[in-house]
Amino acid sequence: MRSTTQVQIDTLLKLQSIEIERNGLNSMLSGVPQKLQALDTKLKTFEQRFTEEQTRLDELKKKYRQREMDVEMNRGRIKKSQEKLRSVKNNKEYQSILKEIDDIEAINSKIEDEMIEYLEQMEAVENFLLSRKDEFEELKEHVKSEKASIQEEYERGKKRLMELNTEWDKISKQVEPGLLKTYLNIRDKRGTAVAAVNDSVCRGCHLNIPPQMYNELQRCDSLRFCPHCQRIIYWKAS
Ligand SMILES: [Zn+2]
Repeated sequence: MRSTTQVQIDTLLKLQSIEIERNGLNSMLSGVPQKLQALDTKLKTFEQRFTEEQTRLDELKKKYRQREMDVEMNRGRIKKSQEKLRSVKNNKEYQSILKEIDDIEAINSKIEDEMIEYLEQMEAVENFLLSRKDEFEELKEHVKSEKASIQEEYERGKKRLMELNTEWDKISKQVEPGLLKTYLNIRDKRGTAVAAVNDSVCRGCHLNIPPQMYNELQRCDSLRFCPHCQRIIYWKAS
């Protein structure tokens, strides 16, 4: 037959274990928005980098086309000069047109070197985008499923929390109002109100209980409080 004190302690321990689970759930639930945001940020960062590289590729293509047009235009100028050569009368003018053609050809050759460089850069960016495309898709999938499971955990947590609240209300009604008030006061101050004592040590504050009290505690005939942390204590065989 369990003593009144044992019943009281058991009931308070039930309340306490409900509260501990409830605290865990609450901190999990309150972390959810941050978790979701972190996933969004991860995706966004990746997307941003992707878009940046895409923009860079577009710019390179534009520059390449511009150079292509420059080369075309210069070729036209060379052709015109070559036509002019045919109708030239004196050597001086002939030499001057030849030099003009050489100059334009030199410019074109420089532009063509630039174009090769653009092509190489474009290829590098294209390869980057290609290699990241799958990775991006994978990340999108990962974020989607991760978010779904967080959401699920959230819903489960909320449901469990409601169950715990109902249970707490029910069990707390079994506690004598004065004791419940004491319990709540200690709980609000210490986080937990009930602590086991074994090997003479209060497991709430890890301090030693006086020998006399330790002996009394084992009799379990009335509620006792830890002289250090004021928690409600009970004896637990080690
Ligand atoms: Zn204590």
